[in-house]
Amino acid sequence: MPKKSSQTVKRTGPKKAASRPKSAATAESQLTEYRKKRDFTRTAEPRGGEAPSKQKLAFVIQKHAASHLHYDLRLELDGVMKSWAVPKGPSLDPTVKRLAMQVEDHPIEYNSFEGTIPKGEYGGGTVMLWDRGTYSYGGSDPHPIGGLRRGYQKGDFKFVLQGKRLRGSWVLVRTRRDERGKTQWLLIKHRDEFAAEGSDVTAEHQTSVATRRTMEEIAGGKSRVWHSNRTENVEPGEGKGTGAAAKKTTTHAAPTSAYQRLMARRSR
Ligand code: MN
Repeated sequence: MPKKSSQTVKRTGPKKAASRPKSAATAESQLTEYRKKRDFTRTAEPRGGEAPSKQKLAFVIQKHAASHLHYDLRLELDGVMKSWAVPKGPSLDPTVKRLAMQVEDHPIEYNSFEGTIPKGEYGGGTVMLWDRGTYSYGGSDPHPIGGLRRGYQKGDFKFVLQGKRLRGSWVLVRTRRDERGKTQWLLIKHRDEFAAEGSDVTAEHQTSVATRRTMEEIAGGKSRVWHSNRTENVEPGEGKGTGAAAKKTTTHAAPTSAYQRLMARRSR
């Protein structure tokens, strides 16, 4: 028999605030690393910690031309933006897994940042608001916020995006931590009406979702420039199929997704 009743030996001590698991960290404590890396007298990025939390959870994707081009996916949780650097950006193809390196939590105020970070500063380069909107829990837990927190901790983080360019059901699956404590995840689109095999959503959208500027225009400090003749904001699944990226092999026989294969391997 176990020493004491193992039922009562939970990992936290007094469990009074039932709806507040210890994962509900404060924005202040979670932003320590973010602030340590930046000199706010030199960069225009926000210091953070002042945005009121809203009812809906925010998400943003920023295209970031730093030393290597990548897309920063940020999902609000417990007062900060959980953040992943996705080198190839998101894919609407559910057979595709995209590496997502977890980076430090960012302040919610970062969601409206578009511009340039000075050369030589942390993350120096151009930042474009590539997509934004809200997101919700995408799993089966009856408590959405609890489900998000548990999913995040388990490394099986299911969410539904309501953005301008990205919609529908997605998952981030944690795969491993490297020697330096960096955590690797994989970003995968679930099969739903917004999935599109063989599509290339990052190539389709080359301008800011907020200002319609190109990376070059943002880098040049140009203000809002409108291109009425530009073919953008193509609805997912529409006006597609002519792109060179369209795959020839459509494996419709096996309705498995990258996520299903990954989870099957993981549960061995
Ligand atoms: Mn970045």
